[in-house]
Amino acid sequence: ITLCDGPSCLHRVSREVRDAVEESLEKHGKSDSVRIHLSGCLGMCSKGPIMIVNPGYTIYGKITPEDAVNIVEQHIVNGQPVADKVVNEDHLYNRFFRIFGDNDFFGKQMRITLRNCGIIDPENIDDYLSLRGYEALAKVLTDMSPQDVIDEVKKAGVRGRGGGGFPTGMKWDFTAREQSDQKYVICNADEGDPGAFMDRSAIEGDPHTVLEGMIIGGYAIGASKGIVYIRAEYPLAIKRLEKAIADAKEHGFLGENILGSDFSYDLEIRLGAGAFVCGEETALIHSIEGSRGMPRPRPPYPSQSGLFGKPTLINNVETWANVPVIILDTGEWFSSIGTEKSKGTKVFALAGNVNNTGLVEVPMGTTLREIVYDIGGGLPEGKKFKAIQTGGPSGGCLPAEYLDTPIDYEHLAKAGSIMGSGGMIVMDEDSCMVDVAKFFLQFTQDESCGKCTPCREGTKRMLEILTRITEGKGQEGDIEKLERLGNMARKASLCGLGQSAPNPVLSTIKNFRVEYEEHINESK
Ligand code: SF4
Repeated sequence: ITLCDGPSCLHRVSREVRDAVEESLEKHGKSDSVRIHLSGCLGMCSKGPIMIVNPGYTIYGKITPEDAVNIVEQHIVNGQPVADKVVNEDHLYNRFFRIFGDNDFFGKQMRITLRNCGIIDPENIDDYLSLRGYEALAKVLTDMSPQDVIDEVKKAGVRGRGGGGFPTGMKWDFTAREQSDQKYVICNADEGDPGAFMDRSAIEGDPHTVLEGMIIGGYAIGASKGIVYIRAEYPLAIKRLEKAIADAKEHGFLGENILGSDFSYDLEIRLGAGAFVCGEETALIHSIEGSRGMPRPRPPYPSQSGLFGKPTLINNVETWANVPVIILDTGEWFSSIGTEKSKGTKVFALAGNVNNTGLVEVPMGTTLREIVYDIGGGLPEGKKFKAIQTGGPSGGCLPAEYLDTPIDYEHLAKAGSIMGSGGMIVMDEDSCMVDVAKFFLQFTQDESCGKCTPCREGTKRMLEILTRITEGKGQEGDIEKLERLGNMARKASLCGLGQSAPNPVLSTIKNFRVEYEEHINESK
């Protein structure tokens, strides 16, 4: 029996479900023959708590402790699934990315990053090993030179999943070419967008895959040290990473002469204190060095001069999690998924006014409509769709005419939004788009580090204008001032935070200008 231990299920009495299952198994003399394990997030957060019975991978949703007892008695003791609680029994279960039959939520998904989440016990390295865990590392150390590994990642065409979309293989190549006595590998797990939980869930559900990707990255660029920089607010993810690192060391996947090779590599965890700007790579490096987390101009890029002035390779959690699959299944296979310029899959945290909120992973090129209506199950209470924000707090808000936009870096940028790291919020007809813009600008303005004037002052002035508009004190010319300030901050800010902060405002002015005008006219 697998019980989802993701925060959403935990919040909905999953521990009580576990107690009820244990008691019932005991009562029916099944404690010795049935193993219970806790998994990371399966993604179906709106259907939690989730309980899965194997063999057969029958997923039960919205389980109460009473339901759990019923399932043990009917399904496990008597072999009859409890039909009205089954979320999805018709499924395929393939080797790497599970495709869960024709169920809408899973049917359109393809899971590479999340391939083991909700399946394995993330605290048991044997579970990971049983699904080809650390096989990619063994392949790399026995059959591939560092340049072979870089070439494979280049062939895959994978781009940075943290939001920037820079080609990962090129970044690896640049860092590998630098000559230095010391190089570093960093995993950026400083996920701070409101409503986003992709990285947290990936680590909580399958920490070893991130570690394996980082070890392979270290081998490819000639680094001996890796650091996972993760928010201190993610205690479960940190605990699982610590356990995974200890287990990987014990099994010889980390430390001196890994798997008998001459490659030695170690990993440690550094905790971030919750500043959103520390997701920017140069601010993150400053934070690890013990300085205040503030971005600096580039060049030099971290690949040339990063942590403590040494060449440093930084990728985010999702990018690292793709690496073992690329090595095992080849870059050519990976690049067959997705669109011409955006390869592979992308994980999104689907939230807002949508029936199936949760964690989803789709091939690049999937349309926004497929995510909202097929995977997300549409909007609750038959409400009309108004907008979708992609890319977290700095993403643009796109109206219904963009629903057929394929998700990839280029199409989202052309539509006036961004891929970002994967936050996705659906808004219904009741949402006020001026309030929405103000909410997100409030966040980015709070999180601005204050180093450069366009972002520090620009976002503050924009927020003042938005506040007076929403309070019924808007003035003629406010919309034009917002546009001027937004375009200035976009062009002149030092880092991505300031450059993208105006997106929610500029996109809502572009797509929902009439709402701004109505607010201002009401003030007259
Ligand atoms: Fe700091 Fe904003 Fe300037 Fe970035 S753009 S350096 S967050 S003030």
